[in-house]
Amino acid sequence: MSSNYQDIIIGLEVHIQLTKLRTKLFCSCNADYRGAEPNTFNCPICLGLPGSLPTINKKAIKFATRLALALDCKINNSTYFFRKNYFYVDLPKGFQISQYNKAGGKAFADGGKITVKLNGVKKDIVLNRIHLEEDPARLVHKGSIATSPYTLVDYNRSGVCLIEIVTEPVISSPEEAREYLKQLKSIVQYTGIADLDLTGAARVDANISIKGHKRSEVKNINSFKEVERALKWEIQRQRHLLKRGKELIQETRHWDEKRRITISLRTKEFEEDYRYFPEQDLVPIAINEDFIRKVKMKLPEMPSERSLRLRRDYNLSEFDSDNLVLDKDIADFYEDGVNSDPSFGSKEFKQYCNWLMNDVFRQLNEQNKTLKDTKLHPKQLVDLVNHIKEGKITTKIAKSFMDEIMKGTSISKIIDTKGKKRISNAEIIERNCVEAIKENPKIVEDYRTNPKAIEALIGKVMGKTKGQVDPEITRTKMLKLLEEE
Ligand SMILES: [Zn+2]
Repeated sequence: MSSNYQDIIIGLEVHIQLTKLRTKLFCSCNADYRGAEPNTFNCPICLGLPGSLPTINKKAIKFATRLALALDCKINNSTYFFRKNYFYVDLPKGFQISQYNKAGGKAFADGGKITVKLNGVKKDIVLNRIHLEEDPARLVHKGSIATSPYTLVDYNRSGVCLIEIVTEPVISSPEEAREYLKQLKSIVQYTGIADLDLTGAARVDANISIKGHKRSEVKNINSFKEVERALKWEIQRQRHLLKRGKELIQETRHWDEKRRITISLRTKEFEEDYRYFPEQDLVPIAINEDFIRKVKMKLPEMPSERSLRLRRDYNLSEFDSDNLVLDKDIADFYEDGVNSDPSFGSKEFKQYCNWLMNDVFRQLNEQNKTLKDTKLHPKQLVDLVNHIKEGKITTKIAKSFMDEIMKGTSISKIIDTKGKKRISNAEIIERNCVEAIKENPKIVEDYRTNPKAIEALIGKVMGKTKGQVDPEITRTKMLKLLEEE
């Protein structure tokens, strides 16, 4: 790890929306607010009108239990909600219903961990707790929060169910924070409680300090991708202040995504300012072992277990299997594919993995898509691997097919339309090799002192045949011809 960050202490509070819940946490309003007309999914409860009474969404408790089990937390058998008091337009009640692990209260679950791997070193990021709370309304600023002349409020989001996942202050670099979030996202995907790719479904507050100095809390980092950048900026800001002989103050700062800086929101904000007290309108939540057992039974295989199994079942390396399992859709795609052809063995398992993780991944990144956005089918990559194995096409030709493959076109159809087949005919290969030697005397001369120059000659033959010649046969032929020269 970079020694730059030896004195850094980071703790993260991640808020995730349980987007797979149909309704809000304390009322039956539609929770799927994205794309909806503002302020249309509301009722007296989520608008906080006097006299309205909340009731808990049972499925939210089930989802929280799933996550707690997946993160290895200790679930508290009896918990109750608190009112977290503050006055702001995003909360018309004047308080947020949340859980609190002090003043006699408990979080939904305590402890837990997420294992991250950075530069080959494993580390457990220990969690403090996870708890349930309601999402406040969505504020829409015109431009930057600092300069916006007005703010619009959409109460559709008000009351949507959030789970807050709080780490201990044990993260020691922005890169480690990035890896932690990557693993958390993966685990959440496997539990099936949320789709964190949705805008605003994951938000992060980060506590950052340099050892021996006051910490700052950076709020409103609105996507996982921004966290590493925000942390780096904030660390740099703190270092600069110290260098100039100034002392840091405890403050809350805002991550301005557009300007890519943090700006001070308020200083001297402490927990007691929220005057937490028990929410008397909700009954305590009692969770017994039987309920936990039932939820556990339905929990799917988690990414870390799956990675171990992929190594066993398909003889993959740790690197390959860890990468494959990160996105459940990719891992499912992989297993669907390799299991569909009984003739596949270790060699094909590895090849299939390479095509998926290198070539398909590159296409997805370039097109900013996920697997589900494409028409790619697991069987196509099986066909691809088999076509290469049977010598019908070369790897180079296969690579040139990727655009079409991503559109769901079958390999045989691409070969038919593009007319690209592997050339293994000895005469054709020899003729092309002879020509390449004749046309490139300089490379041939170079070859006498530098045997690696043969690659350039093979490349010339590839160019002449549009990549269709078999590279191994070509190499053997070329070597023979050069010997005879
Ligand atoms: Zn409502």
